[in-house]
Amino acid sequence: MSNRSKKFVFVPLCLLAQAYQAQGIVKYEWRSSIKPIVELLINKDINIVQMPCAEASYNNSLIREPKGIIKYDTEEFNKHCVALADETAKQVKNITISGYKVIAIMGIEQSPSCCVNYIYTNKGMQNRMGLFMEKLKENLIEENIPFIGINRKYIKKSLKELEKTINES
Ligand code: SF4
Repeated sequence: MSNRSKKFVFVPLCLLAQAYQAQGIVKYEWRSSIKPIVELLINKDINIVQMPCAEASYNNSLIREPKGIIKYDTEEFNKHCVALADETAKQVKNITISGYKVIAIMGIEQSPSCCVNYIYTNKGMQNRMGLFMEKLKENLIEENIPFIGINRKYIKKSLKELEKTINES
């Protein structure tokens, strides 16, 4: 009998590999910010899939200065995000077709590429998805998968939302 878990959560690449984040961005201790999310996923026996990092792959390097969403919002970067979102959506659909279930897709709030609900810009706070996430969401509209934004500063709220999603799945 196979004991493999049939549930999946897709996470941003930097959730498990913080070195992918832009220079100077890693402010919150890994132990307090990310570990509880990873522990919860492991304890609940969820398969964790890392999505590509739109910014590092665009720059062909892990080293980059932080940039706001307005600077990233170019035709070329958006094209890059469309290609990555298409690939990621294909992966999600292959999992679904195989009879498994993607129960959530996680983003990182405040990221120009991966935020789910909000980002600070030079015009103040904007309620919107990041450039990669919005394209992924468009691709997966029919799958009806919840997108959960991780707020690294207030991790408890994100944790609660994830736990609720897992329990209801
Ligand atoms: S683009 Fe996404 S995966 Fe890459 S560092 Fe930013 S939040 Fe993480």
